[in-house]
Amino acid sequence: MTLLRRVRDGYLRTYGEMPEGVAFVPGRVNLIGEHVDYNDGLVLPMPISAGTAVAWGRGDAPGVEAVALDLDEERDSFGPGDATPHQPVDWRSYLRGTAAAMAGQGLHASGARLAIAGSIPRGSGLSSSASVCVAIARALAEAGGVQASAETLALAAQSAEHNWAGVRCGIMDQMAVAAGEPGCALLLDCADMSHRNLPLPDDWAVMIVQSGVRRGLVDGHYNRRREDCEAAAKALGLSSLRHADAEAIARANLDPVVTRRAAHVVEEISRVAQAASAIEQRDLTRLGDLMRASHASLRDQFEVSEAHVDRLVDLLGHAIGSEGGARMTGGGFGGAVVAVMPSSQTNRVRARIEEDYAPPSGAPLEIMIEQTGRVLAGECE
Ligand code: ADP
Ligand code: MG
Repeated sequence: MTLLRRVRDGYLRTYGEMPEGVAFVPGRVNLIGEHVDYNDGLVLPMPISAGTAVAWGRGDAPGVEAVALDLDEERDSFGPGDATPHQPVDWRSYLRGTAAAMAGQGLHASGARLAIAGSIPRGSGLSSSASVCVAIARALAEAGGVQASAETLALAAQSAEHNWAGVRCGIMDQMAVAAGEPGCALLLDCADMSHRNLPLPDDWAVMIVQSGVRRGLVDGHYNRRREDCEAAAKALGLSSLRHADAEAIARANLDPVVTRRAAHVVEEISRVAQAASAIEQRDLTRLGDLMRASHASLRDQFEVSEAHVDRLVDLLGHAIGSEGGARMTGGGFGGAVVAVMPSSQTNRVRARIEEDYAPPSGAPLEIMIEQTGRVLAGECE
């Protein structure tokens, strides 16, 4: 059953009437530019075909009612403006945080009934949480009859992560899913949210392979990495590492761990700019080299990779050869690996990986292949 059908049926089952509309928001895969968004850096994510659908109706009372169709049809409801933080953090935290941020902007005043369903593997680095939050924000704006820009939706979603889920994430994920176009990479400057969609050549393919390693305690690691970066910027007298350079870091006599973290950020931001040029010049070999260098830096300098992920990246790299490359994607400590290659190679590469890699969990291997080029959104499959 398609996602659209599932969310409409779920809405009808829950509220006894058809929804008035459905907001669809994709997930995203980051091609390059990891752990740089919260350092005001450049990033290059791409929306994927899996996403979140939120069916909405206006309901008959003010306030919000919602059902999470993927989570045993759990329910939540709260009056206008009186959502309270939910402990422990779960989908309600994202719902309530997003609704509070939209209400704070005057963008959601009336009542809304929501049904939420998604097709993004959760917790694997493909931003299901950003997709859920932006989809909720868009559904609330549609129910309230107001226009909200991609930036407004993204900021509401980020506020839910920061203030209601305790994850001090940057703005990449939210902007990627709110402003990214299917088949394109979004070159986003996280310093000012300026962005440009770069169509990927339509004879390239983007492959996402799940390592099958579940991330553990990731939010603590994530926030600690962020603190290391902030410490480096402060020691250098800068507002963020976006303004740092390799020589200044080497000269500053920082703690060795903090030096490695800062070096990764500065080098990774430069790789993103080079990767954007490689895409514009249709240079898959160059893009592959940059992806390999990004992975090595995340493994050795930023220390957020993991042994199975490293092995999967190596296997993909060998199978692809020099035209294209692979790297970990997302915050790290498990989750997904992303690879770019000529689309003519996907069957061969897939067969090699299916033969050589088995997820440690014993679960079946999950491989997604994303379309490139300016294609019409094939959402809701
Ligand atoms: P990711 O890397 O996928 O963003 P997170 O741990 O940040 O991983 O977010 C996963 C959380 O987002 C889930 O635990 C859940 O609370 C929420 N979420 C994701 N998808 C859905 C969904 N389809 N319905 C309800 N909540 C969802
Ligand atoms: Mg998330």
